[in-house]
Amino acid sequence: MSETAPFKSGFVAIVGRPNAGKSTLVNALVESKVSIVTPVPQTTRNRILGILHVPDAQVIFMDTPGVHKPLSRLNEQMMNYVRQALADRDLAVLIVDASEKFGKGDEFVIQLLNQYSPRAILALNKVDKVHKPALLPLMERYSKLYGFEEIFPISALKGEGLKGLLAAIIRRLPEGPAYFPNDEYTDQPERFLAAEIIREMVIRHTRQELPYVTAVMIEQFEEGTSITRIHATIVVEKDSQRPIVIGSGASRLKEIGTDARKELEKLFPPKVYLELYVKVDPEWRNNPARIAELDYRNEGGSAS
Ligand code: GDP
Ligand code: MG
Repeated sequence: MSETAPFKSGFVAIVGRPNAGKSTLVNALVESKVSIVTPVPQTTRNRILGILHVPDAQVIFMDTPGVHKPLSRLNEQMMNYVRQALADRDLAVLIVDASEKFGKGDEFVIQLLNQYSPRAILALNKVDKVHKPALLPLMERYSKLYGFEEIFPISALKGEGLKGLLAAIIRRLPEGPAYFPNDEYTDQPERFLAAEIIREMVIRHTRQELPYVTAVMIEQFEEGTSITRIHATIVVEKDSQRPIVIGSGASRLKEIGTDARKELEKLFPPKVYLELYVKVDPEWRNNPARIAELDYRNEGGSAS
């Protein structure tokens, strides 16, 4: 008598320091862009779900903000997302940038892991830029600090080692139902995804001059069959930052708009009409209402 394998499902918390490659890994595993990626630390501000459907399993990855010591309300909220993900997980993956030296920040991550003590897999990322013998001492060090069930050297960027990692994750998932319909790859509403894409382009075009201080609010979102109209406001903290985003003769805002529109048209084909405004709000990072809007799970949330 042959039996089919039981269906498995579960929530996998992807945690690690800022810039370790968490969002890159989730996008690679889900094979869609669910989470924005930039070279700037602390780009991810929320807990973002990336859903992978395979024949015998549904894996729900929780991308999280980088683990750091919080200094503002925004940062506190970001750390709450990390804690929530660790509390809700069936399994955790700690992702470490193997090209960086072990430091205080890494100890802080291990402390956090110990608070929740999930079953965990360690992924040593960015091996494409690491001298391979350097991995061994890192593996030994981490093995002493936490009872990782397996360790995988990977490159989230190049796709190296991901098959093995994914198989190890699925092996450890409990039996369970499909939580999401099989055409959904994230739980983010479209307008939130749109805001995130615009925010990615703002960061990419201004990162030499702006610390990460922008939020994007979608003011209007009308999806039509031939065109989707989006009006969005880019919120900066200081008067001096407005001209940086706008550029001379509005040149930079145009570039941001063009790049964002191209990405948005992939999501909302065939055409997007995008209008961008820039607004100064000195206190947004400590404004509870604005912080609440960061979470698309709150009613009416539309900002990022
Ligand atoms: P997060 O802050 O942990 O979500 O990190 P991101 O996914 O946003 O990645 C931060 C930076 O590291 C980006 O510039 C990525 O392109 C880069 N990155 C991520 N994974 C790899 C990797 O495997 N190799 C290399 N060389 N760079 C990577
Ligand atoms: Mg990220």
